[in-house]
Amino acid sequence: LFVVFEGGEGAGKSTQVGLLCDWLAETGRPHLRTFEPGDTAVGRQIRGIVLDPATGDLAPKAESLLYAADKAHHLQTVVRPALARGEVVVCDRYVDSMLAYQGAGRVLDLAEVEHIARWATDDLRPDLTVLLDGDPTELMGGIDVRDRIEAAGDDFHRTVRDHFRELAGRDPERYLVLPARDSRDAVAAAVRTRVAGLLDS
Ligand code: C5P
Repeated sequence: LFVVFEGGEGAGKSTQVGLLCDWLAETGRPHLRTFEPGDTAVGRQIRGIVLDPATGDLAPKAESLLYAADKAHHLQTVVRPALARGEVVVCDRYVDSMLAYQGAGRVLDLAEVEHIARWATDDLRPDLTVLLDGDPTELMGGIDVRDRIEAAGDDFHRTVRDHFRELAGRDPERYLVLPARDSRDAVAAAVRTRVAGLLDS
């Protein structure tokens, strides 16, 4: 089972990934917690390039290809092997982030970015994507601006949010959209219910 968490900055993705993994551990289900970009040796270097403020302006196509490279390597060396071992893979960000940030956010041709992202990932789609949705200005109020992307303007982050929602609307059966401002425990409970249903089916 492949479960992905998506959402904007400060939405609580990593907290929820952790809570889901805690529950999987408690219930004795082998699982793997991972994230994009950066959860491989080469990915860490790519993450360094794309997020370092010293990188400055990066050509949007170059940025897209760096994220795609991280995805291709991560899929082949981390995600697929874990799925093949029968583990539940819980991933913080995946293809939708690329479509929302590089496609919609950077105003590239969406179909082209989608093609590259799907090529990089052999079009492997998650069984479930949890979208933690909320107003970016509100959510980012809670975090210090840390990296190149978080420092982008409000309009950029609103475009990203809208695109995440649009993607969820296109394939509602594979998405669970939850308000990021709901309590940590309420979100975690909703996620567990949905994942439990998928594990039992
Ligand atoms: O989720 P995490 O904080 O690890 O993401 C790191 C940064 O990379 C965030 O600022 C996020 O907005 C950005 N990002 C991006 N495009 C992606 C994935 C992440 O701009 N495809």
